[in-house]
Amino acid sequence: MPLNPPQPAQQPCVVVGAGPVGLVAALALRRRGVPVLVIEAEPANRTRPGSRAIFLGEPTLRRLEDVLPGLGTSVAEAGIQVMGYDAFYGGRRVFRQRLKPAPPLRWGRSLPQKLTEEIVYAEAVVHGVEFRWGQPVVGVSTTPDGATLELASGERIDTPYVIAADGARSAVRKALGIIMRGSTDDTPFIIVDVDEHPDGCTPTMPGHFHYGCPELDGRNVMHMPFATGMRVDLQCRPTDDAEYLASPEGLREWLPRVEDPWYVDHVRWVSTYLFHQVVAESFTDPARRVLLAGEAAHLFAPFGGRGLNSGVIDATDAAWAIADACTAGTPTAAGQLIARCAADRRRWALHNRDVSSRALRIMRASDPAMRAGRADAARRGWHRCGGRLAPGWPTARSRSRLGPRWRPGWAACRSGCVRRVCIDLREASGASPRHAGE
Ligand SMILES: Cc1cc2nc3c(=O)[nH]c(=O)nc-3n(C[C@H](O)[C@H](O)[C@H](O)COP(=O)(O)OP(=O)(O)OC[C@H]3O[C@@H](n4cnc5c(N)ncnc54)[C@H](O)[C@@H]3O)c2cc1C
Repeated sequence: MPLNPPQPAQQPCVVVGAGPVGLVAALALRRRGVPVLVIEAEPANRTRPGSRAIFLGEPTLRRLEDVLPGLGTSVAEAGIQVMGYDAFYGGRRVFRQRLKPAPPLRWGRSLPQKLTEEIVYAEAVVHGVEFRWGQPVVGVSTTPDGATLELASGERIDTPYVIAADGARSAVRKALGIIMRGSTDDTPFIIVDVDEHPDGCTPTMPGHFHYGCPELDGRNVMHMPFATGMRVDLQCRPTDDAEYLASPEGLREWLPRVEDPWYVDHVRWVSTYLFHQVVAESFTDPARRVLLAGEAAHLFAPFGGRGLNSGVIDATDAAWAIADACTAGTPTAAGQLIARCAADRRRWALHNRDVSSRALRIMRASDPAMRAGRADAARRGWHRCGGRLAPGWPTARSRSRLGPRWRPGWAACRSGCVRRVCIDLREASGASPRHAGE
């Protein structure tokens, strides 16, 4: 893949945040010959909590491959291929899918986010990304000539461009006065990461979605294996004491009812979430010197894996737009490149927010129409719906043309049967088949 020649006289562009999105953005900038400084609030030897993004889709892996040949393959090889999916309703199986083993970049892979970060970080160091750890950014100001970042230490850093990848509480976004718009779900979820069972069964298990699980008094529960462990998600009722259910005593009460009791003694991490479905009202500043990426720009419920998958596309699109802007010739042309990237990524974020909200709505079935549909389907036998897509569901051929109007992730048939479908994550994350050197 052709690289732009290095521009040694150029001031480093700054990436704020060394999470997965910031690391990918920094590496993508370096691969286009742009000097980069990553400024991270936490120390270099920090511990990253939980497994977080456990599924990286095929287009995400291919995008990593575009950034650096071999990178997508390394990440894929650190993960596992989930070999199938089962869906149950009220104790009855309504859907079953089994997959054949596929090459590394096919179908996506499941691994803890920490592993993905370690692999990308190692490459970023090798490719000359500079890091400053333990230096929180507290302010930013921009002019048509560049941006100035203020660190907690009082130091000021001038830079031509900033990628703000400083996560959900982004200090950069706040300093620019950019508001997040959307809603917060009122149903708590408990997310439990457990170790891999020593008998080797964990990575061979299919992903499992149980709606109205009888062993959990009708709550929804999901489990999903990933390299080194497994995630169990419990959807609480609004009236549940989520803190108790997430406590060691609470876990002992419900987890062995749905998983092998061995796992309750091997809980790696547990947390309670209320999911936000919010998108920044702008992904750039008026001077077009900052681009927001990843959770600094949007927060989605994790169902459908749209967070990091779309964050990687934000990161690479932002890096390539900035690399192009650095050589655009005129400030107007440079500004247009940044504005176009911001508008495009925001359009996809709005789409992803809507799709994740819809997935949550289907899971909660809190509106009367959905509840009635489910009851009817349960009475008539959901198994009859298994394997069929919703009426009017687009064919594979038409999907490629529908773009952001297509809403994949979860399908419900007319009678309310819910099934998770194979997500076209190129579409879901908004990745276009573009290459770093283009
Ligand atoms: C339970 C859970 C499950 C998930 N599952 C999936 C999944 O399966 N698939 C998927 O695609 N996504 C998933 N996600 C979402 C995914 O984890 C996020 O999209 C991803 O972590 C976002 O990465 P980021 O780099 O934008 O933010 P972060 O990972 O939050 O990184 C931000 C970085 O910025 C640093 N920082 C913060 N403030 C400052 C500051 N002022 N100055 C300097 N640095 C700062 C932070 O220390 C951190 O290192 C899940 C999320 C959760 C919570």
